[in-house]
Amino acid sequence: MTSFNFSTWPPQLTPEQLEALTLAATTYALSHGLLYLPPSPSNTQPSIPTTAIHAPLSLIPAPFPRAQFHAARELQSVYNVLYARVAMNTKFLDTVMGADEGVGKADEFTGTLWRGWKKIREHGVLAQPLHLGLFRSDYLLHAAEDRLALKQVEFNTISSSFGPLSERAAALHRNILASTSYFSASPHLTADNFPENNTTSGLAEGLSKAHQAYGVRDARILFVVQPNERNVFDQQWLEYELLEKHQIHVVRQTLADLAVSASLDPSTHALTITLPFQTKPSLYEISTIYFRASYTPSDFPSPSYYDTRFLLERSRAIKCPSLPLQLAGGKKVQEALTRPGVLERFLSNEGAKWGTRAPDLTAHAAGIRATWMGMWALDSEDAEIAAALDLLPASVQGQGHGKVPPGTRLARCKAPSLVLKPQREGGGNNVYRETIPAFLDALPAEEREAWIAMEMIETPRGVSGYLVRASPSSSGTDNGSTEKKVVRAEVISELGIFGYALFGEGEVVEREVGWLVRTKGTESNEGGVAAGFSVLDSVVLV
Ligand code: ADP
Ligand code: MG
Ligand code: MG
Repeated sequence: MTSFNFSTWPPQLTPEQLEALTLAATTYALSHGLLYLPPSPSNTQPSIPTTAIHAPLSLIPAPFPRAQFHAARELQSVYNVLYARVAMNTKFLDTVMGADEGVGKADEFTGTLWRGWKKIREHGVLAQPLHLGLFRSDYLLHAAEDRLALKQVEFNTISSSFGPLSERAAALHRNILASTSYFSASPHLTADNFPENNTTSGLAEGLSKAHQAYGVRDARILFVVQPNERNVFDQQWLEYELLEKHQIHVVRQTLADLAVSASLDPSTHALTITLPFQTKPSLYEISTIYFRASYTPSDFPSPSYYDTRFLLERSRAIKCPSLPLQLAGGKKVQEALTRPGVLERFLSNEGAKWGTRAPDLTAHAAGIRATWMGMWALDSEDAEIAAALDLLPASVQGQGHGKVPPGTRLARCKAPSLVLKPQREGGGNNVYRETIPAFLDALPAEEREAWIAMEMIETPRGVSGYLVRASPSSSGTDNGSTEKKVVRAEVISELGIFGYALFGEGEVVEREVGWLVRTKGTESNEGGVAAGFSVLDSVVLV
């Protein structure tokens, strides 16, 4: 374990130093595209924006133990292959996420996506055997006994954002290190302790590999985006990289745009986008579809939006992610993998029969399991959960709940150390600790299946940071009361590791490609930058 004392962080700043650093950081961010579109009162963005604001950012990088940082990066290749194999295992996904047997029964959104996928695989042609994942595995440090352990929060298989902006946040901290004398204030603040972050080129490499595999040089990559997206620069940096390094053009469309512009060739299933430029419409064949939308129910305001999503799925273009890969990222899958033997089966060569031929990875099972907190389903009747419940004193077990499954009763007993999660992405959906019992009281029995219980990761306390927001009153939900641009607060930092995987029946082409740190005040349970709870950060390895 590192001997670093987290409660001594960050070194003290005078008001003059704080002002100078804030000026340096925000100027750097504005100069280098570490940007957001500004919030607008009507939540609509102009079609041609004229202003931008710097992304919420941290002034001083977060301390992170070197060994755990490297361990997270080394695990990524195993995770890339694991989730590729999960996506290729139709039977497993049907059981866990499906609407006949799995979580799709209780969760309408999951059920709708699963039914669409089932219909395509049963009645359609397999127009494209390859899938692309741009993944992000998220971790917190867990202070258990006398050591700090790396624990996984979740594994994202769709719209994993902030790769390019996190690269710029790391560059920002490196720049401030070089340009201000303040950083001599701590012996930890040396260049050696600031790892490289080249996420943009890595993610673009994943997209370009899919484009090459599709095999039509002049085809374009389609970015499916949300209307009025504020995090456009994070996406735009990928577009620039694709064009400048790989000579691949990108077409940006919302699902609503695609309802008009997209069509499939009836015999080849090639996806074509028609754009009405000037007098002559332009036709583009699409090699790869990169979804930065369609991960949340609000992306589908009416059933026709699902029709558009399923049309894209039926096409010959490579989907990032395909519907099965999106479903593989469900919180329920994360929980199902923890059950005895499940991970081990996926890591063993048994995986070959699901496609995605690759070496036996069983040797990594213990390392992967060591990153997991305890998880179970609220509707669980498993013997293990019942046994855990039996171990608790009778007084807290919840008598008289004969019909309430052990999974829910255990969640009620252990509420103070738990978080409940539904099958959602994008932040703001979880139920934490003391609010759990009242939530369970109100939860209809048939909806229990949609939720998992997860032990809370208990992060090291006492570490502080400086959080900088361009417009605090409009971007912070939990800090909205302060009008100060810079807030010193006790913080928690979440590490994300990016990776890509291009896979199908053959081998998995995959790589770990970079990292992200998001930092939030400890008073907030949630951590999404886009949802306004946290800021972009980087690490100083200790
Ligand atoms: P989402 O897909 O919406 O991002 P997450 O599982 O990442 O959902 O949960 C959102 C946030 O909640 C995380 O970024 C983290 O800050 C917090 N969180 C989630 N699970 C845990 C946990 N087990 N322990 C501590 N904090 C957690
Ligand atoms: Mg998350
Ligand atoms: Mg997520």
